[in-house]
Amino acid sequence: MGKDNPSENAEIGVICPACGHEEKKRVAWVRKHVQLECVNCGFIIDTESRNSRSPHSRH
Ligand SMILES: [Zn+2]
Repeated sequence: MGKDNPSENAEIGVICPACGHEEKKRVAWVRKHVQLECVNCGFIIDTESRNSRSPHSRH
C-alpha cells in the first residue's frame, strides 16, 4: 500500500439527474460513498446504482 493508483485519483463526472450539474469526484471517493449531494440543487445522487455492474442485482 502507499502507492498512488492513477485510476483511483482520476476524476469522473457525476451528472445530477435533477438539474444536470456535473459534479467531479475522484474514483476513490465514489467507491467509498454511495450517495453524492449535488452542490447546485442539493439533490441526492445515488452513485451506487450508477456504478452497479452486477448482473444479478436486478430489482
Ligand atoms: Zn443538481
